[in-house]
Amino acid sequence: MPNKARLVIIGAGIAGCSAAYHLAQLGWRDIVVVEQGPLFATGGSTSHAPGGLSLISSSRMLTDFASYGVPLYARLAVDGRPGATLVGGLEVARSEARWAELKRRAGWGKSYGVEAHLLEPREVRQLVPVLDEHQILGGLFSPGAGIGAPVVIAQAMAQAAIDLGAATFQPHTTVTGIERDGRRVTAVVTDQGRIETDLVLLCAGIWGPLVGRLAGIVVPLMPMEHQYVKVGPIPELAAFGREIAMPIVRVHDHLMYCRMHGDQWGMGNYNHVPLPVEPEHIRPHGHPDDEPSKNAFTPEHFAEPFNQLAEVFPMVRGRPITESFNGMFSFTTDGMPILGPHPEVDGLWLAEAIWITHGGGAGRAVAQWMDSGVPPLDLREADVSRFHRHALTPGYIRARGHETYRNTHLIIHPAEPMARPRGIRRTPFYERYQEQQAFFIEMGGWERAAWCEANAGLAEPDLPARTGWAAQFWSPVQAAEHLRTREAAALFDMSTFTKIEVEGPDALALMQWVFTNQMDVPPGRVVYTLLLDFNGGMRSDMTVSRLTADRFRILSGAGAGPRDLAWLRRQAQARGFQVTIRDVSSAYGAIGLWGPRARAVLAAATEDDVSNAAFPYYTARELTIGAAQVYALRVSYVGELGWEIYVPPDTARHVWDALWRAGRPLGLIAAGSGAMDSLRIEKGYRRLGFDLDANYTPFEAGMEHTLRWKKGDFIGREALLRLKDQPLARRLTCLTLDRPGDVVLGREPVLEGSRAVGFVSSANTGYSVGQHVAYAYLPPELAQPGQKLAIEYFGQRLPATVAAEPLFDPDGARLRA
Ligand code: FAD
Repeated sequence: MPNKARLVIIGAGIAGCSAAYHLAQLGWRDIVVVEQGPLFATGGSTSHAPGGLSLISSSRMLTDFASYGVPLYARLAVDGRPGATLVGGLEVARSEARWAELKRRAGWGKSYGVEAHLLEPREVRQLVPVLDEHQILGGLFSPGAGIGAPVVIAQAMAQAAIDLGAATFQPHTTVTGIERDGRRVTAVVTDQGRIETDLVLLCAGIWGPLVGRLAGIVVPLMPMEHQYVKVGPIPELAAFGREIAMPIVRVHDHLMYCRMHGDQWGMGNYNHVPLPVEPEHIRPHGHPDDEPSKNAFTPEHFAEPFNQLAEVFPMVRGRPITESFNGMFSFTTDGMPILGPHPEVDGLWLAEAIWITHGGGAGRAVAQWMDSGVPPLDLREADVSRFHRHALTPGYIRARGHETYRNTHLIIHPAEPMARPRGIRRTPFYERYQEQQAFFIEMGGWERAAWCEANAGLAEPDLPARTGWAAQFWSPVQAAEHLRTREAAALFDMSTFTKIEVEGPDALALMQWVFTNQMDVPPGRVVYTLLLDFNGGMRSDMTVSRLTADRFRILSGAGAGPRDLAWLRRQAQARGFQVTIRDVSSAYGAIGLWGPRARAVLAAATEDDVSNAAFPYYTARELTIGAAQVYALRVSYVGELGWEIYVPPDTARHVWDALWRAGRPLGLIAAGSGAMDSLRIEKGYRRLGFDLDANYTPFEAGMEHTLRWKKGDFIGREALLRLKDQPLARRLTCLTLDRPGDVVLGREPVLEGSRAVGFVSSANTGYSVGQHVAYAYLPPELAQPGQKLAIEYFGQRLPATVAAEPLFDPDGARLRA
């Protein structure tokens, strides 16, 4: 075994082999892949995965991974055995709710460029003659999907890397230590010797948490058991005379999927209680079957699912089980993979919790990221830097593992809050919102009010009420809160935002380097800015106040915060800037006080001068409210006059109460995040992670106003200069729905005729403008106001028209009032 390597990959499952393959293609050499088991049926999850390859997902990132990887697998082979057989994927519905959901999924297919067709039961039967079509309402068929042979895929990829002279694979080699010199990785220690390296890629699957500990990090995933069973022999299947002659079939209503294995019928079953396995309890290699990621079958969890299977596939009745096991694989806290450079250990990368379906795309993404320093697509959903502290605790990882397992085939509403665990982080205003009978959702561990039932009875807009799907996790009270904000004023709890302080002699230099806007402003000024990646893609948007010459406070979203923080630290370290970067999120509560009467409310609660002259738009300063010192920013995310008020938790409620007492006679209410989103959309403010992400540039997003070319170099500047004078491929565009009462929620395809030309990035009702609003990236020729298009919603075409934006207060007069 080599004692030195450019890169050590730990684990030769699909993740490790795909990463090695793609790095080899990029010209990397001197890669050592260490594997504790044999090659290539290593005993990990890849060894016994049945290989269902489906393409459609609500996540564009996962769909991109699959759309690249699945056709690639079909081109790979070992000894004539193909990596994948593209027989298509079929999803069937046994309930009305599921049938509607399949229409929604068909829409995602169109949004993300995956061919898929809704089928009548008899058409389903033509594809899968062993299915009883009387048991289903219909199906969704994607011809590009199929069934993979995971070990073949892994072996073929590994062989290609070996053939290129890029990698060696070391079987029966267990990693027992990862050495570090301070933050940096220096070597991987195995039971076969030590390999010096400053680059490690962790692809250890369900063992990830154990191997992570060797490097001093938490890998937040939970191994969970999942049942797989084969029954047979079945003459109806034997008649095909082939190993695979039918699409993989997902019966989501019963949380199961099925595939052919020659004359056997295989079934994967999620319809059982979550069966977690603590990583330290995974059996070591050396067991007779040498498959440590398989546990004994638990027949008590299979009786009911087998009856359900027999209803849809009567041929299985009375057939014996020929193979059965509880296989393990990784479940993360949000159901997404874990990719990228670890924020605290230099040289340590992760490619964990990756399904077979996504292995090709995820392996390529991580390889390109390692190679160029920039991920090739927006990977925020998978970024290893995305986890808040609480999400790295054992109890949370366990609890979320259970939930994400349960959710695997469930219908999840886009606005549905996480069920468990809840109540981890409470803002100083939590009790005040409870008094207002708030409906709370979860965001970054925080409890956040979506609306307050106490506001029921306030005036609502004259719009048709939402019904059905669109009315779930929504309330007409949101509309009432929206209107009251526009007419009088409202308090919003902004405490959940991530607050970061940057201080030191190089603070300004760091700000200028990472942000697109001019950050060299006098203390007391506030700047709204973008944060780009080196390729010009939009990582984040933030509001930054300059507190003193060498101290800045940055506000970023609750979800984006940890990733932003990691990025700032990495850039500061890379350039050797002398700065201290601190997460001060919990050190301040924050109140948004917004609305035309916001000044009157504030003036009644403070003796300081808050006139426009004394406290202009985009400035910040200290105020005294009651007996408390606060730091107030004259900014607004809702397009109204007002302030964000930052206050330490000890005096936060005192300040809230002072504003409340001052404001109630003026019509002040407490409002939630639902109204905040509807207010921002009609004002044309972009939503991070929805309208703004790294797949797009500021030009495409209409964010040129945040770019300051003359201030000097900043991350992404060079890339943007190359794009500056080129025609845009697409442009973020505002659409309004033509018919009152029509509603879309996001990710639906935008159609010109029958052709999908984009998808909805974010949507909500603009209650003040009386229209339902959707944003989408569209080809520039279609982004012209007045252009007639349609949005597909559960299979229906909803007519929509491109509108000039912003729809509300285009001159910003209300903000500057
Ligand atoms: P693994 O394949 O487990 O590879 C990790 C490797 O790291 C192992 O080989 C292990 O031996 C090695 N390793 C660990 N620790 C060390 C160490 N200290 N030193 C050296 N080596 C080490 N996915 C789909 O897309 N479609 C499906 O239909 C599907 N069905 C599934 C059904 C079942 C029953 C199961 C169990 C999984 C299924 N999956 C499916 C999920 C999929 O199998 C996994 O997500 C995937 O195989 C994970 O690949 P990996 O490379 O991350 O992990």
